[in-house]
Amino acid sequence: MTDLDAFRADTRAWLDANCPTEMRQPVRSEADYCWGGRNWTFQSDAQKHWLGVMAARGWTVPDWPRDYGGGGLTPEQAIILKEELARIGARSPLVSFGISMLGPALLKFGTEEQKRHYLPQIARGEIRWCQGYSEPGAGSDLAGLQTKAEDKGDHWLVNGQKVWTSYADKADWIFCLTRTSAESKQGGISFLLFDMETPGVSTKPILLISGNSPFCETFFDDVKVPKDQVVGEVNRGWDVAKYLLGHEREMISGMGLGGGGSLGEKLRLNVIPTDPLLRADIAAFDVDALAFQAMSERFVAMWKAGEAHPASPSMMKYAGTELNKRRNELTMARGGSDAIQFEQEHGGHSAHDWLRSKGNSIEGGTSEIQLNIIAKHILRLPGA
Ligand SMILES: Cc1cc2nc3c(=O)[nH]c(=O)nc-3n(C[C@H](O)[C@H](O)[C@H](O)COP(=O)(O)OP(=O)(O)OC[C@H]3O[C@@H](n4cnc5c(N)ncnc54)[C@H](O)[C@@H]3O)c2cc1C
Repeated sequence: MTDLDAFRADTRAWLDANCPTEMRQPVRSEADYCWGGRNWTFQSDAQKHWLGVMAARGWTVPDWPRDYGGGGLTPEQAIILKEELARIGARSPLVSFGISMLGPALLKFGTEEQKRHYLPQIARGEIRWCQGYSEPGAGSDLAGLQTKAEDKGDHWLVNGQKVWTSYADKADWIFCLTRTSAESKQGGISFLLFDMETPGVSTKPILLISGNSPFCETFFDDVKVPKDQVVGEVNRGWDVAKYLLGHEREMISGMGLGGGGSLGEKLRLNVIPTDPLLRADIAAFDVDALAFQAMSERFVAMWKAGEAHPASPSMMKYAGTELNKRRNELTMARGGSDAIQFEQEHGGHSAHDWLRSKGNSIEGGTSEIQLNIIAKHILRLPGA
């Protein structure tokens, strides 16, 4: 038996003993996800237990170093863990912008103090983060942001407004892009972290077509931020912002995998006869999804090894979001008029998911912007 075989056997035994049955059921709605944070109310004892045991083992962030709350797994071990979790249909113990976005940026740009302070809390699900990038006048043209952070000697004084800040009203802390100098557009940006309970921070939810209010306008009115809460160098926050965006795009592209498994099986096409044209579309989708999965595994391995082209998250994001939108269209087509009913068919989540998927090609940078990046940096086309 190789070391990896032994690791798989141990992992399987540990998961069998520690993953509650309830946490092996498919996620039915947004409410089944565990976001953590200081105001989090666990949906069940099983959800609390699952987060607790996984965090204690460092397996909410299996490939982060142990010193920072991670599992210290090698890339090969991390893949085995992922496979074993998928084998039993285990839910993710924690969904977190801290894990998928801020953590990687802190690992690369944070000071040792920042890493030791924030990363273990992120790994244990103790801080829920939101992302303060977009502003009313700065979305695709993100470097045009105007939220100002003035150097007041012992603190930064932040004033301005963000928009589309996902879960700002539920988050504990924000990672926020601010303008600290007017000397150049990208050159005068700094990346700040601060508590959403700091005096002067307020949020206003925005109601969407899906009936939910997942994001907010976020206002900063004379917010005092300690000087040591800058990540990376002052005025060089654009480097941190871009690096984090690569990880965000990788995370969003993962939606293309739709939790794994064939859509045909999920829609139970094997037992219920249906329109042959729809069956053909779903079969074609499943083939494309398998190809995407293979590409994704290769990309993630290269990305984690630092070998991927810096623009490759744009390819993944574009392909993954197109796939996810297609999956939702097919699910709605398969469900017929029942699927449109918001509150009935299985709690109405097909319609909610379908409407939510429309935002995939906007969040984390629009599809048009991803195509521009691919044209310029990968295809080397002129004038893009
Ligand atoms: C579900 C969701 C969650 C989000 N969560 C967050 C969050 O947590 N934090 C945060 O900061 N932001 C968040 N956003 C905002 C998101 O990052 C922006 O909406 C996105 O970057 C686009 O910016 P914009 O809305 O200002 O559109 P604009 O930049 O005004 O773009 C409008 C249209 O013009 C096109 N366009 C713009 N420039 C070009 C160009 N050069 N070439 C070709 N076409 C172009 C765009 O593709 C788009 O179709 C979220 C958005 C969504 C949908």
